[in-house]
Amino acid sequence: MREFLAKNLNTPIQYVKGIGPKRAAVFIKRGINTIKDLLYYFPYDYIDLKEVSKISDLKKITSPEQAISVVGTVRSIDLVGRPPKRYCIIILGDETGIVPLVFFQNLQYFKNAYKIGETLAVSGKVSYFMNKFQLAHPHIDRIELNEKNDVKGLLQIRGLIPKYSMWEDFKSVNINDTTLRKILFNVVNEYADFVEEVLSTQILNEYKLMSLKEAIKKVHFPANAEEKYSSRRRLKFDEWFFFQLMLALRRRHTKIELPGISFNIKSRLARQLVDSLPFKLTKAQIKVIKEITEDMKLPRPMNRLIQGDVGSGKTIVALIAMLIAVDNGYQVAFMAPTEILAEQHFKSINEFLKKINVDVKLLLGSQKKSIKNRILEEIKTGKTNIIVGTHALIQETVEFSNLGLVVIDEQHRFGVEQRAELMRKGKYSLNLNPDVLVMTATPIPRTLSLTLYGDLDVSVIDEIPKNRKPIETKVIGESNTDELYQQIRSIISRGQQVYVIYPLIEESEKLDLKTAVESYEKFKHEIFRDLNVGLVHGRMSAEERDSVMREFKDNKINILVATTVIEVGIDIPNATMMVIEHAERFGLSQLHQLRGRVGRGSEQSFCVLVVPDWLPALLNRKKQNEIFYDAYKLNDFNELDKHKALVRIQTMLSTNDGFKISEVDLRLRGPGDFFGTRQSGLPDFNIANVLEDVQIINESRSAAFKLVETDSQLRMEENKNIRKYFLSQLKDKFKFIQVG
Ligand code: ADP
Ligand code: MG
Repeated sequence: MREFLAKNLNTPIQYVKGIGPKRAAVFIKRGINTIKDLLYYFPYDYIDLKEVSKISDLKKITSPEQAISVVGTVRSIDLVGRPPKRYCIIILGDETGIVPLVFFQNLQYFKNAYKIGETLAVSGKVSYFMNKFQLAHPHIDRIELNEKNDVKGLLQIRGLIPKYSMWEDFKSVNINDTTLRKILFNVVNEYADFVEEVLSTQILNEYKLMSLKEAIKKVHFPANAEEKYSSRRRLKFDEWFFFQLMLALRRRHTKIELPGISFNIKSRLARQLVDSLPFKLTKAQIKVIKEITEDMKLPRPMNRLIQGDVGSGKTIVALIAMLIAVDNGYQVAFMAPTEILAEQHFKSINEFLKKINVDVKLLLGSQKKSIKNRILEEIKTGKTNIIVGTHALIQETVEFSNLGLVVIDEQHRFGVEQRAELMRKGKYSLNLNPDVLVMTATPIPRTLSLTLYGDLDVSVIDEIPKNRKPIETKVIGESNTDELYQQIRSIISRGQQVYVIYPLIEESEKLDLKTAVESYEKFKHEIFRDLNVGLVHGRMSAEERDSVMREFKDNKINILVATTVIEVGIDIPNATMMVIEHAERFGLSQLHQLRGRVGRGSEQSFCVLVVPDWLPALLNRKKQNEIFYDAYKLNDFNELDKHKALVRIQTMLSTNDGFKISEVDLRLRGPGDFFGTRQSGLPDFNIANVLEDVQIINESRSAAFKLVETDSQLRMEENKNIRKYFLSQLKDKFKFIQVG
């Protein structure tokens, strides 16, 4: 029995040495149930004892920003000063001298957290105060160098000490950094050898990867930087590989195995539309239309992504595909991520199809039941050709008569799963799989589009219609209202129009709305008394909003004050100035989208970013790279936020290129936030990081796609590890995959 328990990685953690039922409960709360989970609880960083400075060396540090690490023992812990200037000082000493660690917050915690005589590894920035060096709020790890146990031996031979994320409730069961390290050291020693390989020998050899066992041992306790790197590379590879294998199988499934509709692409309706356009399609648009129609011809479901910057003209391209489907007697579902966007698309589609006889309906979750039921009925009978809507489209109640094409706008807000759900809808109604066309208005960095959309073919509209001039962007400090008003007037004196946008952030929605309404009143009755000023915001009814927008479109309103409801889809070429108030509060992609609302005609357009007064001054002082660099060194969150705002504004000033902008946005926000955590389409990775792993992503991608090419059923003997792991881990996460 003992033998068996010792080898079974699914053994509950309470049987691990050093973890009883009480401690186990804390781990279980965090999803760590078994020994295997514990083995996969990787360090987030390491302390490299070789890079540790001696305390006497702190004198030599000249840059106040430089981060250093020292190891020493606690000599004293004291609270000094009086409130509100009270702080906690821990004196740390090594054989060369002493240095104070200073804490201004959580004083009681720091006073009690450490004991005199304890050994601490400390890292942070050195500051110079009252003629002395100190470390303010450094990062602290307990380490035990002197105890006679295995960990001690290990630490003496090896350079790197793992740092694990510590949870608050660890304290209640007496687990500190050292205890956790000991627990992991024992678990790794005892169990890592029983971890089964999940990759094939061929892939291990081809990509020079260490075995999984070895990687797990070394990721926890690497002897040196090289072992840290290569073990992490191996483990990241696994995560990316199995994710991409899923995409590769899915892609193969739709491309080769699924029956789809073969459309006749000679379409009278599409011809009518193109002939009615007041402009000529760009070369890029024509190229993409060709790629789409090639797909539509084939008796396989299309799975294609259109990427194109704001204003590149994606809608018209999708519309041509939609009319081809309608001409072939099929229905089209057009899905947008929000109701407002769905409404706007509905309007612009109707506008384009004014003279073309096609039945277009809008279906929203918020519609009255009676209206919705009527529309649902028309969808079911096939009377309606094009259905525009939100997620409501994929709800159970919607039955299509013969869905042939699904167009999804703003893809990054929909996940892989939702796409699959829509495909299933089509299959249900037809027994054939509809074509899927995905459009993204927010350009996605290339590495990401490859990973996220590895199952899609990608078309890029990399050209903006020729009649456009690049938008000129400038920054104005918020108290410099004279200059702002003057700029607005100069636009209006040319007969053109202006948007003034206020942010609407969820948590302060009421307040924001108040600001927008107040400025509107002030503009209308004081500053721009002689002009026509309009207001739209999200709390207005659709009819109210419509009538204001129509007046603006007809140039009866000179200045439109708005909350971000106009973010996407609005298209008024005579509006040539976009003023964004509190621009520092907007995300980069959103700023770029808003700016894209102007510059849509042949006149020179402007974007004015109104920001707090401290910001323009800093912009002038620092170059962009410096700003970036600083932002990442800061660990003060207020400062960090300020710096991020600075980077966003600086980026808006320096480029109009949506791809560059999204690259920066992604770096600033991290992938979870960038895509919205839930619907990112990326699984919850343990060690993989989309920003750092470019090379690994590419390698694992070729490995996965090559594997599917040679052994799509994963039946070959040499792939049995892969098959076993894939089925056990991924099948229930990605139900739509069918490995026979
Ligand atoms: P996107 O959705 O890519 O931001 P839209 O499809 O909304 O762009 O198109 C932006 C504007 O450009 C619309 O007014 C559209 O009618 C117009 N447009 C589209 N294609 C062209 C073209 N080839 N030449 C001139 N204007 C175009
Ligand atoms: Mg659009």
